[in-house]
Amino acid sequence: MAAPSRGARRPKPAADSPGRRLNTNRSKTDPIANPLACRPPACRVGFGNDVHRLEPGRALVLAGVAIPFDKGPAGHSDGDALSHALCDAMLGAAALGDIGRHFSNRNPRWKNAPSLIFLKHAQALLRKAGYEVVNLDATVSLERPKLAPYIPLMRQKLAEALGLDPDRISIKAKTGEGVDAVGLGAAIRADAVALLYQGTTSVVPKTRMK
Ligand code: MG
Repeated sequence: MAAPSRGARRPKPAADSPGRRLNTNRSKTDPIANPLACRPPACRVGFGNDVHRLEPGRALVLAGVAIPFDKGPAGHSDGDALSHALCDAMLGAAALGDIGRHFSNRNPRWKNAPSLIFLKHAQALLRKAGYEVVNLDATVSLERPKLAPYIPLMRQKLAEALGLDPDRISIKAKTGEGVDAVGLGAAIRADAVALLYQGTTSVVPKTRMK
């Protein structure tokens, strides 16, 4: 293909082309409408996971919601694996270490502590570093009991703790299909990712909870 001659005009992008959309005022500042605007360090992603053994006599708490069951996670705090995984995802996205660095399991202050306070503290650290949460997504793996009826309340609790729209918080539940520690009913596992945005998230459009 011949090189364009000197002084030749570049063709304008079509009205519906990505190049055209990038030129709108909204898309320049909106990381949702325009993912190409999420150049580092504006957006950062973090991953977290957590596993706890299940023991009789322990309360089963997830995202601050007590779920009736005959077993619960062993742990120094309340063993809220979902909150712990989310906390690690948020801290990891900002390269601020992990939950153990900020809340040692040797510190008697955190004995049986409600884990939502860890999440609030992680968010305060993020804000100090100039970040806001765009959205969180987590999966809890547990053989029994079924978690689906509790997920709306769990999202609500997290939204209240973090001051976010519930729409920015996703929680899914899976079983272990009868294999591994989760499937045998011996453990609970949670995996989570967090997307952070450097600066205000006021550009992120609000949507209703689904
Ligand atoms: Mg944990």
